[in-house]
Amino acid sequence: MVRLGCHLSSSKGFLHMGKTAVSIGADTFQFFTRNPRGSKAKELDEKDIQAYLAYAEENGIGTIVAHAPYTLNACSSDEKVREFARLTMADDLRRMEYLPGNLYNFHPGSHVRQGAQKGIEQIAELLNEILTPDMHTTVLLETMAGKGSEVGRSFEELAAVIERVELKEKLGVCLDTCHVYDAGYDIVNDLDRVLEEFDRVIGLERLKAVHVNDTKNPFESHKDRHEKIGEGYIGLEALRCIVYHPLLAGRPFCLETPNELTGYAQEIRMLRTPPA
Ligand code: FE
Ligand code: FE
Ligand code: ZN
Repeated sequence: MVRLGCHLSSSKGFLHMGKTAVSIGADTFQFFTRNPRGSKAKELDEKDIQAYLAYAEENGIGTIVAHAPYTLNACSSDEKVREFARLTMADDLRRMEYLPGNLYNFHPGSHVRQGAQKGIEQIAELLNEILTPDMHTTVLLETMAGKGSEVGRSFEELAAVIERVELKEKLGVCLDTCHVYDAGYDIVNDLDRVLEEFDRVIGLERLKAVHVNDTKNPFESHKDRHEKIGEGYIGLEALRCIVYHPLLAGRPFCLETPNELTGYAQEIRMLRTPPA
C-alpha cells in the first residue's frame, strides 16, 4: 500500500492533524513547524502529542514530515540571517524529539550572488552545528526548482552538501516532483533514468520522502509554481508512476498542491489508483 498524504495546517495541534489526515484517506501528512515567517513556535502540548501518537498507531499513520519555514536561508550572505536559520532549525529539531523517528525537511537556501559553492559550504556548516549523534529525526534537503540562486537545483549540489556533513546518517533528501521537473529532470518521459541518476549521485537510500505536485510551468522552467494533480505539465499518469515506482516503495508521499481538504481527498483517491 502506498503511503499518501498532504500538507496540513498545524494550528490545531497534532491530534487534529491526525484526524484530518484519516478523514481524507491519508496515512501520512506534512506540517509547518511554525508559521512560514519563522516566528516563535508555541511550546508543544505533551498531552496532544500523547493523544496523537496513540491515534496514529491505531489508525496506521506512519512517518510524518515536518517542514521548516521556507523563509529561512542557511546560505544568506548576511551572518544574522544564517544565525536565525540555525537557531530556528535547532529549536525545531529539539521539539521534534517529542515525535521521534520522523522527518524534518528544509529548503537548502539561496546563495544570492555568493555563488553555489559558497552556499553549499554554508549549508553544510549550519548542518554540522545543529545535527547531534543522539537525535531521532532525519533532516531532509529538498530538491529545488532552481529559481533565482536556489541551492539544490541539481542532485550534484545536494550531494556536495551531504559530503561535507559529518553526521551523514542524520541526513536525507526529499524529492519534490514539481521542483525536479522545473529543474530539468524529465520524470515524465524518463523516470527510470532520473532515479538511476539520483542513485548514482546521491544514493536512493537517502531519498526519504516525496512531495507530489503537478506544475504550472513547462519542463526546465525554474519557476516553482505547484499545480493540482493532473492539471499541469507533469500529469496524473506520470505522478501515479512515481507514487507506485518499486524503487520508491515505503516512502511518505505528500501533496503540496493548491487545494482545500476536499481537493486533497480527491487527489489522494486519484493517486491510490495504480498507473495503467
Ligand atoms: Fe518545500
Ligand atoms: Fe516541496
Ligand atoms: Zn515548491
